[in-house]
Amino acid sequence: MAEGERPQDGWPDGRSRYDRHAVGDDAQGKWQQAVEAALRAGSLRLEPTDSPQIVTLRGACPRCGHQLMGVDIYREVLLGVAPANDDQWAIINLICDCLESHEGRPQERSGCGWAPSLTVAIEWPQPGAGHD
Ligand SMILES: [Zn+2]
Ligand SMILES: [Zn+2]
Repeated sequence: MAEGERPQDGWPDGRSRYDRHAVGDDAQGKWQQAVEAALRAGSLRLEPTDSPQIVTLRGACPRCGHQLMGVDIYREVLLGVAPANDDQWAIINLICDCLESHEGRPQERSGCGWAPSLTVAIEWPQPGAGHD
């Protein structure tokens, strides 16, 4: 919704071919930007849970636009595994688990295939606080 926000080229695309081998700087940067844009636009949301150490990521996959099942993100584990410069950030793997069909996908799998080999830095939500 923000001014000057540019959607990713061709994303989201519900007809994206299943691809779980996205690697490299281009893919890494594209995924990070797409997730950030989705969080800003509200198509992805970080929802608080009963635990201050856990949030649930919900919404639509930035690549295929399909609804995700919801991914629980554990603050202490993530920060322990991959500490960011600032503890307001967590490093996660966001793996699409949509239930729609994607060409080329093995029957036992879900999602559009993105992106087990890419990491995303997300800003940890401030407990109960607005911006600034
Ligand atoms: Zn999908
Ligand atoms: Zn997807």
